Amino acid sequence: MTGESCIFCKIANKEIASRIVFEDDEALAFQDINPQAPVHVVVISKRHIEKLTDLKESDAALAGKLILVCRDIAKTENCEGSGYRVVINTNRDAGQSVFHLHAHLLGGRRFVWPPG
Ligand code: 5GP
Ligand code: ZN
Repeated sequence: MTGESCIFCKIANKEIASRIVFEDDEALAFQDINPQAPVHVVVISKRHIEKLTDLKESDAALAGKLILVCRDIAKTENCEGSGYRVVINTNRDAGQSVFHLHAHLLGGRRFVWPPG
């Protein structure tokens, strides 16, 4: 899928509305449309990268940025102390459904391990 037909590119370009919780030049975070926990925020790279596998060495700062945005949102969404989970589903077996790199920040309830 190219960036042009990608739903998260459209969200990044504001062609599709979302409930944005954080934005800068590189990253965007918005409320998941189908939340799996009381806190469920999707953190994306603004640049279209299909999946974690496609990250290059030169993307190290961007990858770190996405993790730090998750850290900050855990604080603003009040689950820093109680706990939270950051998930990057990659390809079929992990259930990736949108092929634009994103991290899920999940919190506000207890999660099981191992995950389903
Ligand atoms: P994945 O399954 O690829 O790891 O995660 C994709 C996530 O994007 C899902 O949790 C899904 O609910 C969310 N999502 C898909 N389409 C939209 C949308 O149009 N708006 C928002 N806010 N979330 C979406
Ligand atoms: Zn995209």
